[in-house]
Amino acid sequence: MGEVRVSLPILDERLRGTKFVALRARSILNSPAQTGMDFWSLNPYVGCEFGCTYCYARYAHRYVVERAHDQGRLSEAEFMEFRGPHGWEAFEQRVFVKEHVLAALEADLHRYVRTALPPRRPTAAPIVIGTATDPYQPAERRFRLTRLILERLARYEGLSIGIITKSPLVAHDRDVLLRLQERNDLEVYVSLISVDTALIRTVEARSPLPAVRLRALKRLTDAGVNAGLIVAPVLPGITDDTPHLEALFRGGHEAGARFVHAGPLRLYPAVRDRFLPVLAEHFPRLVERYARAYAKHSAAPREYARALTRRIRRLQQQFGFPVNDGMVDRYRSRRPVTQGELGL
Ligand code: SF4
Repeated sequence: MGEVRVSLPILDERLRGTKFVALRARSILNSPAQTGMDFWSLNPYVGCEFGCTYCYARYAHRYVVERAHDQGRLSEAEFMEFRGPHGWEAFEQRVFVKEHVLAALEADLHRYVRTALPPRRPTAAPIVIGTATDPYQPAERRFRLTRLILERLARYEGLSIGIITKSPLVAHDRDVLLRLQERNDLEVYVSLISVDTALIRTVEARSPLPAVRLRALKRLTDAGVNAGLIVAPVLPGITDDTPHLEALFRGGHEAGARFVHAGPLRLYPAVRDRFLPVLAEHFPRLVERYARAYAKHSAAPREYARALTRRIRRLQQQFGFPVNDGMVDRYRSRRPVTQGELGL
C-alpha cells in the first residue's frame, strides 16, 4: 500500500496526539448577517484541545473536515483520522490553524468600518473573539494568532471588543490588552462553570483548572484590564444550586472580577453526542430530567431560564457586580455556530 499523502499541511504534532493543521482563511471576521448573532465574531482556530463535553462547536469542525474531503484534499484514510471514531474526537485532536489571518483581517476590517461603526450606527458593533473555539487554547502558545489580531485591533479606536477564554495564556497578553483598552471598550471574559476541580475534570477533558483560571483573572484585573467571569453553560441539576454558584461568584469577586455573566446549557444535537454519555455515566439520576427538559428544543425550558436569571441577579447584587438586563448569556451564540461564523 502506498504512503498516505496528507494534503492539508501539518504544522506541528504533539506527543499527546494533537496535530495542528493549516487552514487557508479568506475571511476571519464574521458579520451578524453571516451568523445571525448580534455581534461580529472572530475565531483564529477551528477545534479545541480543551475538549469540553458540552461544547457546541464540534459540528463546525466536522464541516471543515467534510469539505476538505469533498474537495479531494483528504484521502479516505485521512478523512477517518480527521473525524475520529465517533466524529467528535478530532475536534479535540486535529486543530485547524487559520493562515494569513492578518491579510484576511485587513480586508474584513474595511467591511467592518464601512458598516459597523458610527455614523452608520449609534455605537460600534461589538467584535467578540472566541465565540466558537478558545482563542487562547494551547495552539496559541505556538502560533500566537490571537495576539497578532489583538495587536492589529489595538491600532484602532472606538471599537468594542469581547474576548472569551478558559486559558491563563490570556494574562500573558496584558500589555496588548491594556493598549487595546486605552482607546477601545474591552471586556475579557474568563470562562468558568464551577470551582469544583473534580467536576471540571468530569465535564472538561483538558481545560485549565479553576484555580489557574481565577489566578489569571486576578493577574488581568490587578493590571487594570476590564475582566470578569462568564459562567456558561450552567448545567441544570449539576452546577445551578445557590451554594455552587455562590462559590463561583465569590471566587470571581476575590479575583477582582468587574462583572459575572451566566447562561444555561443549550443542548444542540452535536452537544448531545458528547455530553449525554457523560451525564449517563456520572449523573444517572439526571438522565430523565434532561430528556424531558430538552425533548423539543436545544434551549433550556423558559421557566428554568427565568428562575436561573433571578438567581444570577441576586448573586450579582450580593457580590456588588453590575446586574444584567436579562441577557444573561451575552456573547454566547443563541444557536450553534455556522461555517459562516468560523470564516470558512
Ligand atoms: S474551551 Fe470553549 S471551544 Fe474549547 S472545547 Fe471548551 S467550550 Fe469548546
